[in-house]
Amino acid sequence: MQSQEGEMVIQGVPQQIPIWWRLRRDDFPSDNIDGAETQVAVLGGGLAGVMTALFLAELGTTNVMLLEKGGLGEGASGRNQGHVNPGNIPIEDIFRRHGQDMAKTLLDFEYASVGLLEEVIERFNIQCGFRRTGYMFLAADDEQIRLLRERQALLVSIGHPPELWDARQCEVLGFSGFAGGLFKPEAGQVNPVRLLLGLARAAQDLGVQVRVRTNAYDVVPQNGGFVVRTGKGRVRAQIVVHATNRPHLLGGAATALRVGFLCIRGQIVAFPEQVAQEIGFGTFDGLVYGLRRCQELLLGGMRSVSPSREEGEEDDTVVNSAISMALQAYAQQMFGIPESLSHSHEWTGIMWESPDGFPFVGRVPLIGNQWVICGFGGHGLPGIPGAAHALAQMIVGQEAELPRLFAPRLDRFTRSV
Ligand SMILES: Cc1cc2nc3c(=O)[nH]c(=O)nc-3n(C[C@H](O)[C@H](O)[C@H](O)COP(=O)(O)OP(=O)(O)OC[C@H]3O[C@@H](n4cnc5c(N)ncnc54)[C@H](O)[C@@H]3O)c2cc1C
Repeated sequence: MQSQEGEMVIQGVPQQIPIWWRLRRDDFPSDNIDGAETQVAVLGGGLAGVMTALFLAELGTTNVMLLEKGGLGEGASGRNQGHVNPGNIPIEDIFRRHGQDMAKTLLDFEYASVGLLEEVIERFNIQCGFRRTGYMFLAADDEQIRLLRERQALLVSIGHPPELWDARQCEVLGFSGFAGGLFKPEAGQVNPVRLLLGLARAAQDLGVQVRVRTNAYDVVPQNGGFVVRTGKGRVRAQIVVHATNRPHLLGGAATALRVGFLCIRGQIVAFPEQVAQEIGFGTFDGLVYGLRRCQELLLGGMRSVSPSREEGEEDDTVVNSAISMALQAYAQQMFGIPESLSHSHEWTGIMWESPDGFPFVGRVPLIGNQWVICGFGGHGLPGIPGAAHALAQMIVGQEAELPRLFAPRLDRFTRSV
């Protein structure tokens, strides 16, 4: 059977792989590259690496090589839930720690970044089901409604006003049992693997050499450039971009930047469901987040049922059965999914967060021509396009606009920013 988006749907036994992997993903080269020379080596074939490589090629860099240790989309970029939700950041905390101007800078950046993503999808005609179906932030009780009102006021003050919906309006959308919600109509959703593969093919068409199953072990400075040692041989590069989700290949003086990065394992289940209205949603307490799309309900979260909250868990080949059961129970209770209906897919993925919660984007100090774009945590789709574009601009020597909090300064975690 085929899904609405034309992918193979396997019925019966739940698949312990992301629902997006119904698409064929393996037609990129993986041959030996020993002795290759390139101007820019981009390490990591997730959204950050692929978009940086694509923008570099668009800006005229003729010799870019993208090295991915697995297949494209085997990292977080092929394991997420597909929300493209600008401004889904702890806004109260950002106002308190960095002030109103920085909160506005961060939100303006993400909104512009989503606009850029939409424009790129259109320009390269990428069939990835991007659509702005909105996002609802759900409140359980009157106290949470009060807090949502406060959040709404902050967002209004920086020019990104969401709508406050009451319990009845939420119920019409299929969210019963909630006191209300904050609705953001401009939030979107996408099939993240279709997006990634479409971007990678566009990059290839512009001359980027994509290599999968090519693990980069380290980056060694040599004769003013670098040698990247990989499982498929050594590559000489003038410039290296680290896009491996966390900065674990940074060496020399920049090793300090690796410290304190936290991995958190997220888990998602997918149920077949007749969807009345497509929409993204999350609960105010952060317990659960989900997406209604095509003929599916995706639910994620419930990390609180795990004693470790899934922090420090790096294995994305297994699922946590306690979380599974909690998500199943939630689907039955809140969305009327019958007990007899099993989920079709279930999977995990790893989110990497920096100690201050902001990504690293920019030139790494003290280690030559090496750049980084990583640490987007559980919220990469809205920010990565703008960050990758700014990074590519900086690499080719153009002016770029990027929130200053993203700069990979070595003192970032030792004094307040
Ligand atoms: C369960 C889950 C749900 C999420 N839901 C959402 C969501 O709905 N919306 C949203 O905006 N964000 C979401 N996120 C976060 C989002 O997926 C990430 O922020 C984003 O994909 C990060 O992209 P990336 O390119 O930095 O990392 P990745 O996609 O992880 O890419 C890094 C790549 O580098 C490769 N790599 C690592 N080491 C090496 C090496 N030594 N050599 C070569 N290659 C290497 C990896 O194999 C990987 O493919 C979610 C994440 C998870 C895990």
